[in-house]
Amino acid sequence: MYNVNSMKAEEFISHEEIIDTLAWADKEKDNLALIDEIIEKAKKRKGLTHREASLLLACEDKTRLDEIYHLAEQIKKDFYGNRIVLFAPLYLSNYCVNGCVYCPYHAKNKHIRRKKLSMDEIRNEVIALQDMGHKRLAIETGEDPVNNPIEYVLDAIKTIYSIKHKNGAIRRVNVNIAATTVENYRKLKEAGIGTYILFQETYHKESYEKLHPTGPKHNYAYHTEAMDRAMEGGIDDVGLGVLFGLELYRYELAGLLMHAEHLEAVHGVGPHTISVPRIKRADDIDPTAFDNGIDDETFLKIIAIIRIAVPYTGMIISTREGKDVRARSLHLGISQISGGSRTSVGGYVEKESEDENSAQFDVSDNRPLDEVVNWLMKMGCLPSFCTACYREGRTGDRFMSLCKSGQIQNCCHPNALMTLKEYLMDYASEDTKKVGEELIRKELETIPSMKVKEVCSDHLEKIEEGIRDFRF
Ligand code: SAM
Repeated sequence: MYNVNSMKAEEFISHEEIIDTLAWADKEKDNLALIDEIIEKAKKRKGLTHREASLLLACEDKTRLDEIYHLAEQIKKDFYGNRIVLFAPLYLSNYCVNGCVYCPYHAKNKHIRRKKLSMDEIRNEVIALQDMGHKRLAIETGEDPVNNPIEYVLDAIKTIYSIKHKNGAIRRVNVNIAATTVENYRKLKEAGIGTYILFQETYHKESYEKLHPTGPKHNYAYHTEAMDRAMEGGIDDVGLGVLFGLELYRYELAGLLMHAEHLEAVHGVGPHTISVPRIKRADDIDPTAFDNGIDDETFLKIIAIIRIAVPYTGMIISTREGKDVRARSLHLGISQISGGSRTSVGGYVEKESEDENSAQFDVSDNRPLDEVVNWLMKMGCLPSFCTACYREGRTGDRFMSLCKSGQIQNCCHPNALMTLKEYLMDYASEDTKKVGEELIRKELETIPSMKVKEVCSDHLEKIEEGIRDFRF
């Protein structure tokens, strides 16, 4: 029985409800009057239900689709302006006891190079990341209670926050590790993490169990209920995601939005971010072996529909996608991207040879961070290295109220300008610096409050003088 308030995975992600939703969407997909009604509702920026979003996903009418893309772009501009937040993944260990059939870390893979970074190696990786200009990381590990226990992850977080190299600092560590206990989530919260990210992979229970045949991750309910435990452990900001390609995308979109509705209903706050990874080639993984791969157009349609269905949720795209898809996705709702990423353990310091691949997936966007920053600015985006919200206690519903209050342009916008200025001063190439300075001059004028504009101008001057880490 479907129950959004239930704490049981199979009730808040009800298979029957998803099947019903998809059948209803199929039946109504040419009902243009109903589709128009849903688009009108989305224009009010209050979001859509999983049913409404599923109907839009089934819709094939070109005029309506154009309207949806246009609205997604508009909503993105209204809530996030032209800012794009940058981050990098940091792979700590690829030891893993699970048997996920799409992931090269699976326990039976005997030829992948297994590696776990020592604290000294983490230090070197972080210095390399700081020297690129990164301020925000997402740490990643395989699941292995012996090699990667929670204490190891906590030590790593402590090490990362402690490193101050030149003007560099990692100011926000997001964590993408396997589902764990309330007690461990509490420890992660105490360690000062930003978002806890856990991809559902697939919401389809039967497929989930087949795709995760062995190891603790096999337990669908334990994995699906992880965000509730994280919130119980005090983590306000959680990040959802589906690994597209494993199951039917229409099933996944309905499940993903049901999950968001459940978090909102039970905890009063929806997901902080949604990621949209697509399955990629990797060591012994061939993505064409999975039947449910989606083409670029479908992928972008999904992004646009998520954007209008959950307007306040940040959306993340990684270097699994190439430059062109990333460029288009920025117009349809993506607000965070990774740049200069390495998906191998220790990859920021040492380059691996072909035969010692420890990477989790092949990267499609290989450009260095400076090139990504430059490219973003030339497309009219404002790259942001801001980490202010969680450091100012604006997490969970407090961040959502900031979004809803319309004050983002007086808060996030100056923070973006100041952190970009730091980047230009400390790390940028000559051309990036030139383009960036011009952009900052122009964007400063768009801060609505005179007072905030003045303070921001003053801070920008102080950054020139060498002072760092201003924030609103
Ligand atoms: N091990 C952790 C867990 O169990 O959730 C999470 C960390 S894992 C390093 C990060 C994510 O990479 C996984 O959740 C999965 O969605 C994704 N991934 C795994 N194999 C992939 C592949 N071949 N292509 C693209 N993404 C993949």
